[in-house]
Amino acid sequence: MVHVEIRHVDQAAIAVLRIDNPPVNSVGSQVRVALGEQLDKALADAQVNAVVLTGSGRFFSGGADIREFNTPKTQVRPLLRELIARIEGAGKPVVAAINGTALGGGLELTLGCHGRVASETAKLGLPEVKLGVLPGAGGTQRLPRIIGIAAALDMIVGGEPIAAHKALANGLVDEVAADPIDAACRLGLALSRGERESRTVDPAPLRNAASESVFEAARRDAQRRYRGCIAPLECIGCIEQTVHTSLEAGLAYEADRFKFLVEGDQSKAQRHVFFAERQATKLPSAAEPSQIARVGVVGAGTMGGGIAMSLANGGYWVVLLEQTEAALQRGWNTIQGNYAASSKRGRFTEQEVKDRLSRIQCSLEYGDLADVDLVIEAAFEDMQVKKEIFTRLDAVCKPTAILASNTSRLDINEIAAVTSRPAQVLGMHFFSPANVMRLLEVVKGAKTSDSVIATVFRLAVRLNKIPVLVGVCDGFVGNRMVSHYTREAYFLLEEGCTPAQVDGALRRFGMAMGPLQMQDMAGLDISWAARKRQAPTRPAHLRYSKVADRICEMGRFGQKTGSGFYRYEAGSREPIPDPEIDALIAQCSAEAGITRREISDEEIIARTIYALVNEGARIVQDGIAQRASDIDVVYVAGYGFPMFRGGPMFYADTVGLPEVLATIRRFHEQHGEYWEPAPLLVELAESGRRFSDS
Ligand code: NAD
Repeated sequence: MVHVEIRHVDQAAIAVLRIDNPPVNSVGSQVRVALGEQLDKALADAQVNAVVLTGSGRFFSGGADIREFNTPKTQVRPLLRELIARIEGAGKPVVAAINGTALGGGLELTLGCHGRVASETAKLGLPEVKLGVLPGAGGTQRLPRIIGIAAALDMIVGGEPIAAHKALANGLVDEVAADPIDAACRLGLALSRGERESRTVDPAPLRNAASESVFEAARRDAQRRYRGCIAPLECIGCIEQTVHTSLEAGLAYEADRFKFLVEGDQSKAQRHVFFAERQATKLPSAAEPSQIARVGVVGAGTMGGGIAMSLANGGYWVVLLEQTEAALQRGWNTIQGNYAASSKRGRFTEQEVKDRLSRIQCSLEYGDLADVDLVIEAAFEDMQVKKEIFTRLDAVCKPTAILASNTSRLDINEIAAVTSRPAQVLGMHFFSPANVMRLLEVVKGAKTSDSVIATVFRLAVRLNKIPVLVGVCDGFVGNRMVSHYTREAYFLLEEGCTPAQVDGALRRFGMAMGPLQMQDMAGLDISWAARKRQAPTRPAHLRYSKVADRICEMGRFGQKTGSGFYRYEAGSREPIPDPEIDALIAQCSAEAGITRREISDEEIIARTIYALVNEGARIVQDGIAQRASDIDVVYVAGYGFPMFRGGPMFYADTVGLPEVLATIRRFHEQHGEYWEPAPLLVELAESGRRFSDS
């Protein structure tokens, strides 16, 4: 766990303590104990002039062991903050040799040291805010004392790691060196001889370091960036202590706020999402992925263009195929425009943009797809169109090529059946904008082979996407559930709500946007087409809201036509409530014989979110998702579900499944068969289990 080596430099002895706890050298309870013992030994050894702390492999330390949070292991002494205090007060210099990534508790460990040296490739960060907590081992008190309030706010509230050269520039590290252990030994020796000054922090409050307005601005910014999250505000509150109190009092304050956060629902939800994302990439089979270098994209519209960019960003060669010269030109112009905008924002250099564009070859000839390893079709959402395209692809593509469709809802098995290679056909459901959104539903058809799935998962990870394995059904996981969510939103309109009231309640719950605003953004014609397709098989006795259809009949397809559930000023995405729609909704209520009533936010949230939960339970039961936590990943990464609530299934666990079930049963009585409780929900609730146990 901790290896010790004595190095001799200029006749002095330096004890190098190396943390070795793969994969990320986390400082869990066992490492703390081992480190405490070795540190005490080295400090007590009269032969040792200085101590160097470092890590094995590519990590210095990834920080505390998150799996130990909320377990008795966090109480095993020495606590990390005790260990850091011991280092800070040591009678001989302790220097951190930051050999690689130092995150969270790992970086905090270095902040107690008398000097810090980083390797050229080191990354230093305090990402705790992303897990709904704060740096609880002195980070919020020591970092501002080392690099100043503004830079510390950036690192702690932003949560993004910084590179070694930046850490040198802002004073976080004293040196950047090709051999950080050697440099740290020399620094330790110089410190022991009094030739260099210790970099431990001054425990006094920081004077005139920042005005109140800096913290106010940080709070405003955090409320905008992390709507509904409490951890960023607590981080700011802790940093603010550094201007009011001593290190000791600030540390006590920080420890108290850490405890508050780590025991709260938000941080549990955010840790759930963190693990769920990692779990989602695990496949049931160990099949070998094959190599992908060249990818064809069919259709250069909204999705095809974004998919092509995403592939080019990931270093793949792309052939972008369209039907007509005009459509191809339009698609290419959009891609160029998007890259120009990101280069303007400083995301890519001009050279990077050039390289990416040079990897995309535009084409009108299917023959150009003869040697691609994978094709992703993103043409119109029409089964006949897809069948024609897959027939042609099957004829021109090499026999080993994988053929994927970006369909939002259509049956992958039906598409696969027109090819001679159904084992190599699957769905790759990207989300819009495809070059930005990280979620990818990977749809496994009845005949799709495991190695094809493994190949696409590896490609997705290389594209920095979060792949989630889903099965074939109308809408897969995300859109199948969203149909139930929007259905309830439409019913709520008929029963007494306005669009702004429904959307407002869900935004206050934490959704990035409400369901009606989301429909306006996606285009009302898309779901209208799906409803028309489903109409022949929809049982006549089931309640059906005509509100959305009537809005479409008025030619209002959402943002793209300047009006939908709301109206939009030219060039703006800001939804403006429209009395014409209020009148239309009231008319629909009257026609359906519904007496409009007052509806609370609480009911709006239960009706819409529990509709997601109930359908999510059926999806797990049907095996469409591998696990309930995959659904949470889909909703947080793809549908703007608040991360701090952990996704719909985790949220239901937090509320308590017996309570969720009781409410669903009440809705079942009041609103009929749409609300029939999912058998898995009943089974879990009645046996005292949760979705996270399923
Ligand atoms: P779009 O209308 O913007 O683009 C479709 C493009 O495909 C058009 O440029 C059209 O010229 C081209 N095309 C049509 N038939 C073709 C053919 N035979 N050969 C080559 N090109 C052809 O549509 P979109 O929004 O990009 O959607 C594409 C697909 O992605 C659909 O299946 C849709 O359901 C799915 N999808 C859309 C979204 C979204 O938010 N828009 C999200 C996920 C999935």
